[in-house]
Amino acid sequence: MTGTVPKVAPRTVVVTGSTSGIGLGIARAFAAEGAHVITNGFGPSDAIEATRRELDTLGSGTVLYHGADMTKPAEIDDLIGTAVRSFGTVDVLVNNAGIQHVAKIEEFPPEKWDQLIAILLSSAFHTMRHTIPLMKKSGKGRIINVASAHGLVASPFKSAYVAAKHGIMGLTKTAALELAEFGITVNAICPGYVMTPLVEKQIPDQAREKGISEAEVKDQIMLRLQATKEFVAIEEVAATAIYLASDAARSVTGTHISIDGGWTAQ
Ligand code: NAD
Repeated sequence: MTGTVPKVAPRTVVVTGSTSGIGLGIARAFAAEGAHVITNGFGPSDAIEATRRELDTLGSGTVLYHGADMTKPAEIDDLIGTAVRSFGTVDVLVNNAGIQHVAKIEEFPPEKWDQLIAILLSSAFHTMRHTIPLMKKSGKGRIINVASAHGLVASPFKSAYVAAKHGIMGLTKTAALELAEFGITVNAICPGYVMTPLVEKQIPDQAREKGISEAEVKDQIMLRLQATKEFVAIEEVAATAIYLASDAARSVTGTHISIDGGWTAQ
């Protein structure tokens, strides 16, 4: 072989809520591609460090962990600041952190409402307001919001989640329009049911709420509208994030990609 291979600096990727589930899958995929990755989220510190080390060995980039609580704007500020101090900028921002709470509206605890809106919606505003100036400066960037089929359609007993996910769809479109001429794309991914700890935790709650068995929650509620009758794999969501961050997706902005086994086709 002749010639020189151009040296491309690794991209810096921030993935909120990446100690588990979909976020971990996305962080893993970017780490394997050779990106510098900042992971984030909660969990036992030894497990978080073991995961960070495992991800760090996957590619040529460095994987760090930051424990910012997505309900706390000052900690979100420090998360993005840490990415800049460590790697110079943020090239890809993945807003993924999430929790769920299932209850009738009249029984929904107001503090749970506030917590869900803060984690699922307001945290993305805070990560974006810090990251956008960095991306504008470098003339490129990718913002990927992990929304949900619940960003497009509703289900009963999930008022805060559905409201926040519909909200992030609006934030995605607005940011895409503001940033379209700066080489920055903003998109949402809308998964159907993916078997992660977030979903596992809902099963007993839904069973109690509806007075049915946990197996019936899976078959009659979760997979009822998922036409494939199968849970979506974490790797499918991660591969979509990798695509949205690629050059091939440079004209894809202000939209969403559904990975929901046909749920929202109905
Ligand atoms: P998960 O419970 O496996 O992971 C959630 C992550 O968010 C964890 O790392 C957790 O520590 C982190 N987190 C929670 N509260 C946080 C906080 N205050 N600050 C920082 N991090 C926090 O859940 P998941 O299923 O992987 O969900 C990830 C995202 O995907 C969420 O936004 C969720 O709404 C969305 N989603 C999930 C499904 C599904 O079926 N699992 C479907 C559609 C969309």
